[in-house]
Amino acid sequence: MHVVVTGGSGFLGAHLCEALLRRGDTVWCLDNFSTSSPENIAHLCGHPGFRPVRADVTAPFDVPAPVHVVAHLASPASPPDYDRLPLETLAVGSRGTENALRLALRHGARFLLASTSEVYGDPVIHPQPEEYWGNVNPIGPRSVYDEAKRYAEALSSAYRRSRALNVGIVRIFNTYGPRMRPYDGRVVSTFIRQALEGSPLTIYGDGSQTRSFCYVEDLIRGITAMADSGCDGPVNLGNPREHTVRELADLVLQATGSRSRIEYRPLPVDDPTHRQPVITRAREQLGWSPVVSIEEGLERTVAWFADQARQADRSGYRVRPALMEV
Ligand code: NAD
Ligand code: UDP
Repeated sequence: MHVVVTGGSGFLGAHLCEALLRRGDTVWCLDNFSTSSPENIAHLCGHPGFRPVRADVTAPFDVPAPVHVVAHLASPASPPDYDRLPLETLAVGSRGTENALRLALRHGARFLLASTSEVYGDPVIHPQPEEYWGNVNPIGPRSVYDEAKRYAEALSSAYRRSRALNVGIVRIFNTYGPRMRPYDGRVVSTFIRQALEGSPLTIYGDGSQTRSFCYVEDLIRGITAMADSGCDGPVNLGNPREHTVRELADLVLQATGSRSRIEYRPLPVDDPTHRQPVITRAREQLGWSPVVSIEEGLERTVAWFADQARQADRSGYRVRPALMEV
């Protein structure tokens, strides 16, 4: 198959490109590198099926080849990133999604939208099934991401209804693993970096808020299963094991053997109090469920971060001090 991956150089995009190439697909990787670096896909560049393209998908785009699937992942995804890029986040969720939908329509391709558990906002239903409509503050700082994704879901559903486009929507819950940026501001990457540096782990609020963390290999298996299916969705993809942020800090300290202390910081505005997916639909319609435990996933992620830090040290690059955090 020929697959277009928008946001293909990002954390999930690079893993998806890798998985698709491994099974023999030709992959068009479109990215403007606003929240990633070309280094993230450098290891794929010698592959005969890999076509990396610098492109901002908020402007119309095409690829000079047949297209069977468009996987639309382009969007800032970490809270500090979309806080820094509010208008860009709204643009890629709206215009970017429409351009990706039009590409799929022109080529008769399946369209896969990478939506998010953030469409549930600060949920009053727990755990969250796909039938839940969510509780989003439409004007708060997180709204640029949440509402852009909700609009992207509405737009994709309208293309399905009015243009008979083959659309599938996945709602991705917090995912972690190798290739996260150490300074992306997300909790797993931040705690691992801080633990490896020996600096304090920064817990926002009292650490009682929960998230359910999915290892990236599991998640990518879910995305490819959705791409290969004719399933409309939305389908939740995430690991149903729920942890408080405080528990996560302890797990990271165990996985790294670090003696870093915990430091408490103010909770960001509208930070969701809990998050846990119901994955019955993914199990029944895709035959998917995650298999990597958080202990195993953290061990693999820590090994990757430690290796990156060693390579950076050898090349003279020093991990930036905590003061420089975004
Ligand atoms: P990421 O920031 O690592 O990757 C996003 C990629 O999109 C980056 O490479 C960025 O440069 C690119 N991009 C942004 N705007 C663009 C534009 N206008 N044109 C072209 N490229 C653009 O984030 P990620 O974690 O890999 O997330 C990928 C997708 O999955 C996002 O749509 C995100 O909303 C969704 N998602 C991720 C998670 C998670 O836990 N990682 C959870 C829910 C949803
Ligand atoms: N968080 C934290 N310390 C950090 C970064 C994040 O305590 O250094 C918290 C954050 O407030 C949230 C949770 O960890 O409650 C998950 O944050 P992340 O940004 O990874 O994901 P999201 O909030 O988008 O689910």
